[in-house]
Amino acid sequence: MTFNKCGDCNMCCKLPEIPSVKKKSFKWCDNCNIGKSCNIYNNRPKECKEFYCAFILNLTKLKPNKCGFFIFTEKEESYRDKVFTIYCEEHKLNSIPKTIMKDPQLNSLVKDNWSFHIRYDQDDNNLAIFDLYAFGMIAKKLKRSEYETKWRKKDTLFEFTKTLTDMSQRGNLYGRLLELKELELHIQKRVNELEKQIEETDPLKQ
Ligand code: SF4
Ligand code: SF4
Repeated sequence: MTFNKCGDCNMCCKLPEIPSVKKKSFKWCDNCNIGKSCNIYNNRPKECKEFYCAFILNLTKLKPNKCGFFIFTEKEESYRDKVFTIYCEEHKLNSIPKTIMKDPQLNSLVKDNWSFHIRYDQDDNNLAIFDLYAFGMIAKKLKRSEYETKWRKKDTLFEFTKTLTDMSQRGNLYGRLLELKELELHIQKRVNELEKQIEETDPLKQ
């Protein structure tokens, strides 16, 4: 957990492995005051301090502790390959596609060919994929080896993220990149509006 915005959520204190605090995946961290905070908040490890989930980055309105999963971008290539990673409570796995499609921001990303690689239990070989155009409205369960040989359509990416350390290494950069991308969209929108206004006030056209 990183920000005040986390509020009563502690999902990233439960689902991933965090070796620096001897936390196994899909088990609560011993330091977690569930629904409230972290008992070692000021001294929590770097990977906890620097972790940004998609909810924190305003990429979705889905709050992790309400929907049962959190979403994040694992590495720089995630943007190029349009892949999000999800850590999910196993009993929420089947509902992920519907939940995602109900969220307007994620719905747009899915339609723009983003897919979701989902970790749902402690077995690193277990994987589920939500890829609307490849498998439809399901979280398709695969073995990692099967995925790599048969289904992997995007030429780099998928390595399992095992720890929050992996996730957070470039978290700050992702955060900045997203801010800039949002700014880029905003600027482009303003440019289009201004161009339109200029064209509408062109005396030669009147
Ligand atoms: S999963 Fe996201 S919202 Fe929940 S505690 Fe972690 S960073 Fe905060
Ligand atoms: S050390 Fe604190 S912030 Fe990190 S996983 Fe444990 S409870 Fe969460």
